[in-house]
Amino acid sequence: MAIKLTGGEIYDPAHQVDGQNKDLYIVDGKLQKSLTDNEKLDQTYDLSNCIVMAGAIDLHTHIGGGKVNIARTMMLEDAHSHPHPGSDILRSGNGRAVPSTFSSGYRYAEMGYTACFEPAVLPVNARQAHMELADTPMVDKGGYALLGNDDFLLNMIREGATQNAINDYVAWLLDATQCIGIKVVNAGGIHAFKYNQRRLDVDETGPAGSNPREIIATLSKAVHELGIAFPLHVHASNLGVPGNFASTLATMAAADGLPIHLTHIQFHSYGTEGDYKFSSAACEIAEAINNNKNVSADVGQIMFGQTITTSGDTMMQYFGHDHASPKKWTIMDIECEAGCGVIPFKYRDKSFVNALQWAIGLEIFLQVNDPWRVFLTTDHPNGAPFTSYPHLIKLLMDRSFRNDVFKIIHKGAQKASNLASMDREYSLYEIAIMTRAAPAKILGLSNHGHLGEGANANITVYRKQNDIEQMFAKPAYVFKNGTLIVKDGEIVETVQGVTHVVKPEFDRAIEKRLKKYFDDFQTISFNNFKISNDEMIECIGNEIETHPCGKI
Ligand SMILES: [Zn+2]
Repeated sequence: MAIKLTGGEIYDPAHQVDGQNKDLYIVDGKLQKSLTDNEKLDQTYDLSNCIVMAGAIDLHTHIGGGKVNIARTMMLEDAHSHPHPGSDILRSGNGRAVPSTFSSGYRYAEMGYTACFEPAVLPVNARQAHMELADTPMVDKGGYALLGNDDFLLNMIREGATQNAINDYVAWLLDATQCIGIKVVNAGGIHAFKYNQRRLDVDETGPAGSNPREIIATLSKAVHELGIAFPLHVHASNLGVPGNFASTLATMAAADGLPIHLTHIQFHSYGTEGDYKFSSAACEIAEAINNNKNVSADVGQIMFGQTITTSGDTMMQYFGHDHASPKKWTIMDIECEAGCGVIPFKYRDKSFVNALQWAIGLEIFLQVNDPWRVFLTTDHPNGAPFTSYPHLIKLLMDRSFRNDVFKIIHKGAQKASNLASMDREYSLYEIAIMTRAAPAKILGLSNHGHLGEGANANITVYRKQNDIEQMFAKPAYVFKNGTLIVKDGEIVETVQGVTHVVKPEFDRAIEKRLKKYFDDFQTISFNNFKISNDEMIECIGNEIETHPCGKI
């Protein structure tokens, strides 16, 4: 099958293509520069007056795993007020803040996304997370396994295990959980919470005998030495606490120059100035990102309205439970490996704190100079549902629209923010970097996020419109591996993506120690904990694509 896309304005930052008109050829699901003599064209799409980008990639969105299902069951109001009827080709579903699995896949595809990464896979719950992700059609998936509060790692650090032994554990865990990266949430803090501790600063020794700095240094080194493309994904200490920008800067420094990705950094960029003792430290954080090339971040922008917060950070979710709206919350744990807290929340533009949070996220976007190192996320559903991305893109690309919204937020927050003085407007090229080229690059997905020869034909075509939000909400065409899946914002064919994983090499001697640990302390057996490649494909229903690791 050969398809020609002709006359479109191409944005392909991986090849420095910035709005030039170029023809693209899709042959058997892959992109080609031209057709060979014996390839016959089957179909041509005229893309005059259209913008063409690679399929978008969301590197941080909670769409699978235990806490998401808890959120779904807790948010019946959300489910009932947003029903999604089925059709000849679509399954029914529901939900806006936490859409059901099928709906999540459909909504992402309708916006031109072709891959989504679940950032908090509790290792013992990885099987269920992958089952939910297998139930999410249309997009490719992948997960980040949680470490940094588990007894096994904390014991190794306390006992002075070698870095090589820790690397073996990290590699074994990635293999056992079928994940593509490692995430650490409030390093050591969730563990400390179980000892009734309510805070743990970066250099404070927790009950495990180590501090967050050591845990982050150890894990970022492990990820680096194992040659995993994606840097350690870090949810820093003191989420949401006024003054936490200092611990965020300390967390960046903990990586000691090695690659580190700070997630939902908006929630970690707060000062203590002003009448409310809550202020923006976006400038300090953006400056640190600008000055430290080893650091990347996704923003975790908030949007006004109802959502639900789902986090592995039991310590800080417990801290926030008084603010639940509606009034219900859940804190739970499985096997004391990490944590889980789920709290419904309504962000209000007339609340000083919420309005300033909104401004802080945008301030970070606008002050980080390099779009290759800042990523467009709302930490779905924590800051807002992912379906608000087109609105967020408009806020970034249209200064007068941004300032109009700014004028209606809480007056005190307006005074506390310098957002209105920021002239920057993101270009289409920069949006293509932030939502396509950069996520593919940082995740190590060489065939994604670009439109060069040999790339998977994941392509999103937008019809030019004056209203950027409308344009990004309803692509004219979306292709997934060369198949037309969306036309004029509506799904025309359903597909099932793959799950991206890494499998770094390790010394299997670590399994002897792990087996004893499982026998002594876990309720699941060592052998049942591991998810094999065959189980992923035959039982869970996820084809896997393994990406190479360049072990150093
Ligand atoms: Zn998150």
